[in-house]
Amino acid sequence: MSYARVLCVGLVGVRGHLVEVEADLSPGLPAVVLTGLPDTALSEARDRVRAALVNSGQVWPNRRITVNLLPAMLPKHGSSFDLAIACALLASAGELPIAPMERVVVLGELGLDGAVRPVRGVLPMVAAAAEAGITRVVVPQGNAREAAVVPGITVGAVDSLHRFVSFIRGEGRLLDPPPPRAPAGASGPDLADIAGQEFGRYALEVAAAGGHHLALIGPPGAGKTMLAERLPSILPELDDASALEVTALQSIAGVLPPDGELIRRPPFQAPHHSASLAALVGGGSGLARPGALSLAHRGVLFLDEAPEFAHLTLQALRQPLESGHVVLARARGTTEYPARVQMIIAANPCPCANPAGDQHCQCSAVARRRYLGKLSGPLMDRIDIHIKLKPLSVAQLMTTETPAESSEKVAARVAAARAAAAARWKPQGWRVNADVPGPQLRRPPWRLPPRDTRALRAGLERGSLSARGFDRILRLAWSISDLDGRDRPGGSDVDEAAQLRMGDAHARQAAD
Ligand SMILES: [Zn+2]
Repeated sequence: MSYARVLCVGLVGVRGHLVEVEADLSPGLPAVVLTGLPDTALSEARDRVRAALVNSGQVWPNRRITVNLLPAMLPKHGSSFDLAIACALLASAGELPIAPMERVVVLGELGLDGAVRPVRGVLPMVAAAAEAGITRVVVPQGNAREAAVVPGITVGAVDSLHRFVSFIRGEGRLLDPPPPRAPAGASGPDLADIAGQEFGRYALEVAAAGGHHLALIGPPGAGKTMLAERLPSILPELDDASALEVTALQSIAGVLPPDGELIRRPPFQAPHHSASLAALVGGGSGLARPGALSLAHRGVLFLDEAPEFAHLTLQALRQPLESGHVVLARARGTTEYPARVQMIIAANPCPCANPAGDQHCQCSAVARRRYLGKLSGPLMDRIDIHIKLKPLSVAQLMTTETPAESSEKVAARVAAARAAAAARWKPQGWRVNADVPGPQLRRPPWRLPPRDTRALRAGLERGSLSARGFDRILRLAWSISDLDGRDRPGGSDVDEAAQLRMGDAHARQAAD
């Protein structure tokens, strides 16, 4: 036999596509030709595969070798094709029977010594194989747990090319994936840890119920970070499709913890303000890595000290927040990753960041306005809730009599509110109140009776409230009424919603 074919998977963004690795030996001058849009890492596969074969005691066929990756149009990145290429090569040279590899997807990078190394993105690759009707995969030992997460797939693990070759020849066996670990249960910070700060807790609950982005303005020590970190604990668990997407993104980024569990809790990402654009939105050579924005997909992106982020960085978030995905321009076409996040931004009220708050602030009015003004514009346009947090005194922290409500209790109210909103907006295809375009809420059948919005309309006429601000308050009123289990908001819900906007004049200028 001088021709053989082995199945593999290539990734485009978070989607895997079956790739056929063909090898053909023909008489002629010894040479290796790789075709099918290979990137640099793939061209290097030639050298890795040759060294791995020789160092595993296999024969390198001294003939003209053509390796072709199909479909040719599909861009291919990375080193995950190595093992499939080695397998196809040996089979085409008649060194291996090909029958045992029919309908088996083979993934893995080869070391020069013949070791099989883990690769990034195994979970979405195996998921794509399962979708294509494949039931058996061979993966590097280090990726076996991750691959075993995908239902309906038999996973064989390999640590070396030698083991793989022995298995195909019927002389040895593959390794079993390690058993999945018991789920660790709900972990992470709990709302019960936060004493005082009722208004902040309430804003967080409304944000969770309606999927609203949230801006927290307050001095250091007001609990901005503590609140933000606890938003995931009151959000609903991820459904199957979202869980797979979130786990796949972590797999592609190479940050999936080696416990082999599907991620069920909404993720939390808090990039530092000095983070590069690539770290935030994604990038890098070869298979582009998802950035913090995509790693927070279906979860929470927290930008602490938001005015310290570079202007361009904040600008780069705008389009993904709008569309729910990141498009990364690459040398060979573009890569797209999902990025549907709930964003929390936190800021000090002024550049001096005095922990005592406004009393001891020495910043000029201009400096304060300029500082928060960095957040104005298109990014803030997307944020429904803007609240000001006051610093908590030690006395306040110590005198709170009743223990604060736990995340579990709040999460139950949030889940009920989300279910009500999802049922209401189902015909329009919106999932949460934050998805609803403002004008819709001003028209029948969703328009509220004039008596309930009188104060808002007065604000509009005076010019103290913008049209966008008006719409945001309406959206929030729906979330508040959902949390209280009412069909539609009343006047008091509208009033409460208005309080979830900032009262501070210059800050509102920045916000509206
Ligand atoms: Zn100051």
